Amino acid sequence: MSKPVLTLKISVFLALLVIFNCSLSGFCDSRELKSEHFIINYDDSVQYSYAPGVKKTAERLYRLITQEFNLIRDKLWVWDNRAEIFIASGREDYLSRYGCSPWSTACVNYRQKVIYTYPDQSDFEPILAHELTHIIFREYLGRNNLPLWLDEGMAVYIEDKYRNGLYRKNLFILKDLIKEDGYIDFRHLNEITSSGLGGQPTDYAKIFYIQSYSIIYFIFQEYGKSNFSRFLWHLKNDKDVQSALSRTYYYLTDLEALEKRWKEFYLE
Ligand SMILES: [Zn+2]
Repeated sequence: MSKPVLTLKISVFLALLVIFNCSLSGFCDSRELKSEHFIINYDDSVQYSYAPGVKKTAERLYRLITQEFNLIRDKLWVWDNRAEIFIASGREDYLSRYGCSPWSTACVNYRQKVIYTYPDQSDFEPILAHELTHIIFREYLGRNNLPLWLDEGMAVYIEDKYRNGLYRKNLFILKDLIKEDGYIDFRHLNEITSSGLGGQPTDYAKIFYIQSYSIIYFIFQEYGKSNFSRFLWHLKNDKDVQSALSRTYYYLTDLEALEKRWKEFYLE
């Protein structure tokens, strides 16, 4: 085999490799920015100054979320274990590339620690806080089969801190929902999955999100932060919400007890 032929074959192989990688990631014309815990891939058309801001926000939120719930994990997000953030050129590009929900502004692949989004969103910080909480929370628990209300309640709780308490200010509606029996009973709430929620009307989804957040808010307010960290630790080791509740809180022996106390809290 002559050298030019070998060189040509290697070149063709490398070119195919690049094309293959491009088609997988959807980012042929992209730039990359690395930080301690993140790799940010952004489309060539995204303003050069945008990615450093994302990097800074992501690093700050990573530390704050971990500290807020004491979600210490064994495997650090460094080197090959860094999370990735993909930034498309704009909303249309984001929707066509990643297959995220049409109403979403970001979406996440929990297992691979990848977040997809697009630039210049005025509320990017709370959006990123929400998605990062999902990844960090699930990684801490070490499993995927946790109730959706708990997962979303945690994510909205953190998101709300960067939305000037928008959800907190709307908690007053819980009083009417409880009085009019318009809330989702806890047995049913505990069985709702993301695909099940996707098939529900928007109003139902809104109730689901505010109610999920309200439960986390109630437990935090009523029983304190350190007990909540203990609850999460039990949840990590017991694998069951009711068992983790009863091991942590004297009065919250099961979901019925949680529902009863939650109603009392919001009806006061
Ligand atoms: Zn979410």
